[in-house]
Order: sequence, then C-alpha cells, then structure tokens
Amino acid sequence: MKRMMCILAVLVSGALLLSGCESTTAGGATGATRSQLLLVSSKDVNDGSAKAYRQQMDKARSANALNANQADVKRVNAIAKRLIAQVGVFRTDALKWKWEVNVINSDTINAYCMPGGKIAVYTGIISKLNLTDDELAAVIGHEMSHALREHSREQISQQIAQEQAISLGGSLLGLGSISQSAASMIGQYALTLPFSRTMEAEADVMGMELMARAGYNPESAVNVWRKMSAAGGDAPPEILSTHPSDESRIANLERELPKVMPLYQRAIGKNVVASSQQQAPTDKKSLRAPKNSRKKHVR
Ligand SMILES: [Zn+2]
Repeated sequence: MKRMMCILAVLVSGALLLSGCESTTAGGATGATRSQLLLVSSKDVNDGSAKAYRQQMDKARSANALNANQADVKRVNAIAKRLIAQVGVFRTDALKWKWEVNVINSDTINAYCMPGGKIAVYTGIISKLNLTDDELAAVIGHEMSHALREHSREQISQQIAQEQAISLGGSLLGLGSISQSAASMIGQYALTLPFSRTMEAEADVMGMELMARAGYNPESAVNVWRKMSAAGGDAPPEILSTHPSDESRIANLERELPKVMPLYQRAIGKNVVASSQQQAPTDKKSLRAPKNSRKKHVR
C-alpha cells in the first residue's frame, strides 16, 4: 500500500520535480531501508535547516543560554562524538556532514537533530529526566537517526505530493510556486511537525543501533521513553509534541533489542582492549563483555 502511494505520488508529480522513491540509508543490522518519497533535494532541505538552526542558536546566545553549562556541554559533546563516529554504517556521506552539537540552557524537556546533522540538547531533558550517559545517548542517537533517514525531507515531499494532487484536481500550479512554498516550509517542518509513527519507530531502532555500536547500553532506550511519559501529566514534555509516543513504541524497542545487544557487547569488548585511557563503561553490565568478543571488528 505504501509502495503504491509512493508510485502514485511520483506519477502525480511527474517531471515537474526532482522525483524518486529510494532509501536514504543502508540497513545496518536493524534494516531501515523502507522506500521513501523524496521530491526535494537534500541540499535544499539541509540549507534551509541550517538557516533555521542558526537562528535558534543565535536566539539562545542572546539569552545567554547557549552552551552555558560546561558540565552538560562536555557530556553531550562526548556522547555525540561517539555516536557520530558510527553513522557510516547507515550512510558513509554522513561521516562528512558538518555536524554541530549545542546545548541550550532551558527547563524545557527537548532535543532535536535538524537535517544535515544540527544537534541541540536542552539542559531540561538531562536534569528533569535525570538521564544517565546511556539514556542521553539514546536520545541523541534517536534524533540523529531522524536526520540520517532524512525524515524531514520525506515529510516535505509528502506535503508537495499532496499539493500536486490537489493542484491537478483544480488549476495546475507551476513549478515556481511549489518550489517557493517548499522553501518556506523547510525550517518550520524540521522544527515543528510531528514525525509519523513509522518514522519514530525507525529512529528508535536506528538510534539503538548507533548507541550499541558506540558502546552505550541500548537497553536504556526503553527507560528514556518511560521517563518521558512519566514526566507528562497535564503538560506533556515539548519533545512529545514532535515525537508522538505510545505503548507500542516501547514494545517495538524491546522486540528489536536482541538485534543490537551483540553489537554493544562487541563494542565494549573492543573499548576495553583498545585503550584503558578511553572513557570506561559506567554500568556494571557493560563490564561483563564476553572475552571472545574483544578482538572482533565491529560492523
Ligand atoms: Zn523522534
């Protein structure tokens, strides 16, 4: 059905736009290779997003809220660095992206990674959810996965396909007007539109794989969404407005966990051998790496 819609949308859009159904990522161990409707270029989406990100960071800087808490900044950067080193398993071009990591001082429970690798973590998500390093890695890995899968680009494409279908039903819009509307949507989409359940599930599983490969315990991913729900009450955390969550989400994470646990075990085994100077795994479970996995190459 989804494939059919994809084909239909491309037919509708015709030759007016850059069109195609493809997967933005290789599957890794968890298999995120769903065919995606992609009618706009990565460059357009990434450029528009970089602009919106810059504005957000400038706003935070004027409020003296940009990277103001050095302990959090150090922690977030160290975790992001380890995760970014693993993105090649899904797409090698992402190793060369201009990744940026910033921490915003705010009580808001929020974090995002805009298209092209522009990460922002709010101090509120760390302090209010009392996140461990593993849990913080789950949050950042999840957000990075939305960018790696180019979910915003896909959303924009779906919106354009819809507009095209409407315009074909009435008066036909020219390419110029569509491109204009696409351009003006990009920043807004990347920041405010909720991702679909399918996209969330993909980001959850890919995020778990990234963290596992980076040596963070993927079992922690489930804790994060439990903590998030518990923090809800009358005023749900801001991150939930763009990341719809439900029970099936936790079930999905638990179901996929066995696929990534071996990657985690190999990663921590490798870390132990690689250097005793490297950041040591912090939880007790991570110290139980099977000896025979220590020299295996991760991938
Ligand atoms: Zn998400």
